[in-house]
Parts: sequence; C-alpha cells; structure tokens
Amino acid sequence: MDIKELDKKYIANTYARFPVQIVKGKGSLVYNENGKQYIDLGTGIAVNTFGFSDDIWKEAVSKQMDCFQHTSNLYYAAPCVELARILCERTGMKKVFYSNSGAEANECAIKAARRYSEIKYGAGRYTIITMKSGFHGRTLTTLAATGQEAFHKDFLPLTEGFVYAEENNLDDVKRLADENSCTAIMLEIVQGEGGVKNLDRDFIEGVAKFAAQRDLLLIIDEVQTGNGRSGKLYSYMHYDIQPDIVTTAKGIAGGLPMGVTMLGEKVENVYDPGSHGSTFGGNPVCCAGAISIINRIDDALLTSVTEKADYIRQQLVGAPGIKSVSGLGLMVGIETVRPTSEVVAECREKGVLVLTAKNKVRLLPALNIPKDQLEQAIAVIKEVCGA
Ligand SMILES: *Cc1c(COP(=O)(O)O)cnc(C)c1O
Repeated sequence: MDIKELDKKYIANTYARFPVQIVKGKGSLVYNENGKQYIDLGTGIAVNTFGFSDDIWKEAVSKQMDCFQHTSNLYYAAPCVELARILCERTGMKKVFYSNSGAEANECAIKAARRYSEIKYGAGRYTIITMKSGFHGRTLTTLAATGQEAFHKDFLPLTEGFVYAEENNLDDVKRLADENSCTAIMLEIVQGEGGVKNLDRDFIEGVAKFAAQRDLLLIIDEVQTGNGRSGKLYSYMHYDIQPDIVTTAKGIAGGLPMGVTMLGEKVENVYDPGSHGSTFGGNPVCCAGAISIINRIDDALLTSVTEKADYIRQQLVGAPGIKSVSGLGLMVGIETVRPTSEVVAECREKGVLVLTAKNKVRLLPALNIPKDQLEQAIAVIKEVCGA
C-alpha cells in the first residue's frame, strides 16, 4: 500500500490532507517524495516561524537535547525560567504557565478567569464572552469558547459558561455582560480559523476599556497571531490595550509543541501549588527552541515582516480575480473570485503551498522567507487568481 492508503487505513479520519507527502524542507522550500520543490506559505499553520529545519533553531534545540530532555515540573530548569523572564520583560505580563498546545493555553486562561472571580466575588460569576467567529481550540471547553456552531455539532453537551458576541459590535458585548454574570472577555485580534477576519480598532480598544470598568478580564488569544507574525511581537501591541491574559502557542517554539499562558497583574497569583499543571508543560527542549525564536524577533526582524506584508498587499490588492485582502502582517486572507479549492490546487501544481480559512485563501509564510521566493510565490498566486 502507498502512504495515502496506509494513512487512510490507520489514522483517524480527522484531516482532509492535500495530496502531497513532505519528505524534506529547508527554510521556505519543501520537497515531496519525487523531489518536486514547493515554496511554502503555510509554515505548518504558523508553526515553523523561521521555516523548515532552521540552523539557529536546530542548534538551540540540539544543545538542550545534549543536556537533558525532560525533568518534570518538580525540579528547576534554566530554559523554562529564562523564557518566562524574556516573555514577561517584553510584554509587561507578570508570570507564565506552560502547556503544549493552543487549546491548553486557552484552557489555562479560562480556569484562571474562573478562579479569579471565584476568589474575589464568590461562586457563580463565571461566564466568558467570546466572539461568534472566534476559534480557541478543540477540547470540550475550548470548543465551547469557540463561537462557531459548526464545531459544536455532535459533541454536546459542551462546558457551560460561554456566550457569543457579534464581532465589531461593542453594544452586543455590553448587552451580554449585562445579561450574564461574567468574569472575562476573550478574543483574537485577527480571527484566523474564522476566516482571517480583522477586528476594528474601535472595537478592540472599546472592549478593553469596558472590560477594565467592569473588572472583566481581557483575554487575548495570540495562538496564531503571536510571536512576530503581525509585525509586532504580539498583535495586541498594535492597539492601545493591556490584556490581563495573553495565550500563545503555534509559532512560539518554531515547530515544537508548546503553549504559553501569560498572566498579568490581576491574575499573576491566581494559581497556587496543585491548582493547575501539565506533565510536559515547560519541556526544556521546547523552551530552548522558544528562547531562540523569541530572541530573533527583534526590531529589525519585525520591520522586515512589515515590509514583506506591505509588499504582499501592494501586489494583491486590486489584482484581477482578487476581491479583498485581510489580515495583519504575514497573516493574510485573500478573497478570490475563483473557488479557493481551485486556487489552492493550481498554486500547488505550480509549486506554491497555500492554506485556506473559511472562504479565503490564507498565507502564513515564514517570517524570514527570502524576498525572491516571496516574489515568485506571489506572482504564482496572482496568475492563478486572475486566470
Ligand atoms: C490553532 C488555534 C488554537 C488551537 O491551538 P492547538 O494547538 O491546535 O490546540 C487556538 N486559538 C487560535 C486562535 C488558533 O489559531
């Protein structure tokens, strides 16, 4: 049997895979089993921050592999502390909790919000307002936090305590806060899985102000938007807000599984020993990878991200067959005249790997994609969209 048949026979049928087997990658170039080369604009869904098998990242990870790969959270480990210090210094957050995925990072944020309210106000004030097109993960609780009905179907009952506001409608948020006993508001700055939908500046800043007035915790899900992708270290930094909790995962460790929940002043001491935990959380190899990633996301890198982002928009906005371009930085949503499935397949045939999100073509290139490869890939996308 070939790999497609074996995959179908032995792996749970949760993914509709593209018909490509990846056997090797270097930077933004990737190769299939026949040696066909592709320019990758998907980075394993915003995970391979500096592309495939990046040398600096590999060295950081290998060095930690040679020391020790795991300790349990019963002992101190330098990479975990170092990463936490760097993240807190660069965000103004106070403490971090480590887990292994975006869903878990959000789970920790949700538990923190519940515990904050329980300790301060007593039982019952636990509802969290999230957005109708948001996406926060696949566990039963983060599915409940995910406003999109399509994901809920067949998995009921979900965790209770979530209500969904319309995006960019502050009055709807206020109404839900009045009708429910709420502890937090949770949102993405740009909704990734929801279709690369940008939230308005007025809405984001209005929600932050309203949350502060009501002592509702502001939780920003930076699982996809974080770690340099937006042109800032975290996308909330484009706005005049200071979240109480920031979650991230995907790109933080450059291709290793890691979730991080950053806790601000209000919640820095909400957890005490035994109240939350994760066996693999803060794995030192993942932390070493993350330190190398975060330390490379400096002003020069962020400037180049913004330049590449500007280039992409300048090329695509108004081009034949392209209806609109959304997103922030190197997170790009393209509304095409042609069906997205056709665009994706034709780009692939022409050697460019792109993603979709809802009704859009989605680009999440490596932050260090070489300019010539980016130009080549964008030319292919324009050609396919305009055909
Ligand atoms: C991908 C994603 C998640 C879930 O992350 P997993 O690592 O798959 O659990 C949560 N929130 C957002 C915004 C995401 O894009």
